[in-house]
Amino acid sequence: MIKEKGILFVLSGPSGVGKGTVRKALFEQDTDLRYSISMTTRAPREGEKDGVDYFFKTRNEFEKLISEGELIEYAEYANNYYGTPKAYVQQTLEEGKDVFLEIEVNGALQVRENFPEGVFVFLIPPSLEELKDRIVNRGTETEEKIKARLEAARDEIDMMDNYDYVIVNDNVDHAVSKVQSVVLSEHCKRSRV
Ligand code: 5GP
Repeated sequence: MIKEKGILFVLSGPSGVGKGTVRKALFEQDTDLRYSISMTTRAPREGEKDGVDYFFKTRNEFEKLISEGELIEYAEYANNYYGTPKAYVQQTLEEGKDVFLEIEVNGALQVRENFPEGVFVFLIPPSLEELKDRIVNRGTETEEKIKARLEAARDEIDMMDNYDYVIVNDNVDHAVSKVQSVVLSEHCKRSRV
């Protein structure tokens, strides 16, 4: 029997939405997902370990990885590079195990191009949804105000359209169980529970 490939799950969302917190809480639970440790040029924060939290690289090392095609995607965020190593992701998926990425939006769009069969989950803050609801349903504000708010939210909402699932991060535990539901439903869809 040919072994089924694993599923690539990508958690992304706007800056500051709490992707890292949700990812950490998810991996504290019992999960079969394999977390892909990213490469970064940013300095380790207190308590962070190389090869656990990130693979910490110099800019030169990182640029060499880019030029050698070792990354699935990469992006510059707050003056540092962040990227996903290709070998680990490909090998793990080939072994039939699911891989989980937690990355910012520009990187997620690149992954979408190269892994269209991946499952893309967008995490949004509750205030964005409230804002969206208000804009769509009530229309009590002046036209200028609605326009300004829409303008500010537009980029994020536009990004949301590129995703398969949207999860409101109103509470970390709720967000984690919704991510777990996504994983389960994708397995059911592919008949490989
Ligand atoms: P932090 O420096 O706080 O750990 O992460 C900053 C941002 O980089 C977060 O939004 C995080 O999701 C994102 N990030 C972490 N790893 C990667 C990666 O491999 N690729 C991309 N594109 N973004 C990443």
